[in-house]
Amino acid sequence: MIVIRGATTIPCDTKAEIQKAVYELLEQIESRNSLKKDEVVSLVFSSTSDIHSYYPAKAAREAGFTSCSFFSAQEPEIDGSLPLCIRCMLFVEKNLSPSHVYLRGAKSLRKDISGKINIAIDGPAGSGKSTVAKRIAKDYNILYLDTGAMYRACALKVLEEGVDPEDEAAIVDLMRNVKLDIVYENGVQKTLLDGRDVSEEIRQNPVSMASSTVSKHASVRMHLVEKQREIAGRMSCVLDGRDIGTYVLPDADFKFYLTASPDVRAKRRYDELKAKGAEVDYEKLKEEIIRRDEQDMNRSFAPLKQAEDAVRIDTSEMTIDEVVKTIGRIIQEKL
Ligand code: C5P
Repeated sequence: MIVIRGATTIPCDTKAEIQKAVYELLEQIESRNSLKKDEVVSLVFSSTSDIHSYYPAKAAREAGFTSCSFFSAQEPEIDGSLPLCIRCMLFVEKNLSPSHVYLRGAKSLRKDISGKINIAIDGPAGSGKSTVAKRIAKDYNILYLDTGAMYRACALKVLEEGVDPEDEAAIVDLMRNVKLDIVYENGVQKTLLDGRDVSEEIRQNPVSMASSTVSKHASVRMHLVEKQREIAGRMSCVLDGRDIGTYVLPDADFKFYLTASPDVRAKRRYDELKAKGAEVDYEKLKEEIIRRDEQDMNRSFAPLKQAEDAVRIDTSEMTIDEVVKTIGRIIQEKL
């Protein structure tokens, strides 16, 4: 079940204006969320105390919402609040990232749950980005986009086809003929190559180094960045990667740069791979992580770098909970 919010205002308190505004608001909510009326389980309206002439819920019933339950309430009088305003909440039986709708000067009450926000989390391998990003996405009920998975999927294809990861032209050719999709199942990102779920395979160690090599190429990056921008443009999300704050979304609402000592980062990756039952050599892993960072930091196009306006957090001595709390506090302060 998800909640879609909406609000609108009316020029004067008459039945006709209330009907018109409610029809328009619900129509916009339906079309922006590709929603069918029978997917709405419950509809809650609240109106400011200067609205008396008609119930918005009745207008909704007349607009064709006949299979859901309704609730209409009056808001208390609050100093400075927007006059003649109707707010609604639709409880919907559907798995989607909601588009909230604000019309005629109405504003969201809480930007974190109603407006579109993009949060960029960058940093080197093992700095805790993905674990933290997933938690933040859950806390704010927004999408988590793991951009590294896209480069990893591309690297997996390159390895499978026996293409040289240094050969930019051959990789672009390969990518043109492969369908890379990012889909969400129960809120979890799945990476598909030609329809095949490769979410687990792309985590294997040989893919890590190859992904760093394929991601050096400007044309490969441009191809994937286009997809990332398209997703972030449509909905609120947390994106983690190397160049989100500097290149993909330079105007992101929040930017964080996570880092940690190479030892700590290698230990985290070691534990992660061990937990999956993989055979790993700690020293070799550490050396690979350092090599990968160097390659990511020194490539000419969109290298790994802290954006000037990003908040830097050294997670070496911090627990995941502490990092999530620190980031959450910074977000709340600015919202
Ligand atoms: O984050 P992850 O370890 O999954 O990323 C794999 C590789 O993909 C990185 O080493 C990096 O070279 C590349 N990458 C990138 N830009 C991003 C995300 C990942 O270059 N936004």
